[in-house]
Amino acid sequence: MNMRVGLGYDIHPFATADSDRPLVLAGLTIANAVGLVGHSDADAVAHAVADAILGAAGLGDLGTLFPASDSHYRDADSMVMLREVVALAAADGWVVGNIDVVINAEVPRLAPHIEAMKSNLVAALRCDAVNLKPKRGEGLGAVGRSEGIAVQAVVMLTT
Ligand SMILES: [Zn+2]
Repeated sequence: MNMRVGLGYDIHPFATADSDRPLVLAGLTIANAVGLVGHSDADAVAHAVADAILGAAGLGDLGTLFPASDSHYRDADSMVMLREVVALAAADGWVVGNIDVVINAEVPRLAPHIEAMKSNLVAALRCDAVNLKPKRGEGLGAVGRSEGIAVQAVVMLTT
């Protein structure tokens, strides 16, 4: 059995408070929360996880596969992109062994949404070993000042 690890990172700024942009994380729309700015749906969890998979599979990065300059991806559903990335890795014989994700967000409180986000990722990755950890910025840096949400993901692919 072959094994590879990959690391993914993503950060998106919050939209202005009066924006009607939804907050979408791991394919879950979180009600009554300020959304993130980005070319697609700005799903920082889906982006970090996809980049971790691409890294492990040696397939480059998300921005190259789905360029922001391509209007096709405006407001795109990032979980669709994530499924495409899983399929690309699968075409090279890789399956997701496990994934561990840190979601750095001062707001909103993510604990009540972790299980629903996890279910979405389990379905997209076809892997039960999905772990999500919400983390706050403790007042430090851009996350601590509630300027955006940053996500780190590590994945192991196996053959
Ligand atoms: Zn992103």
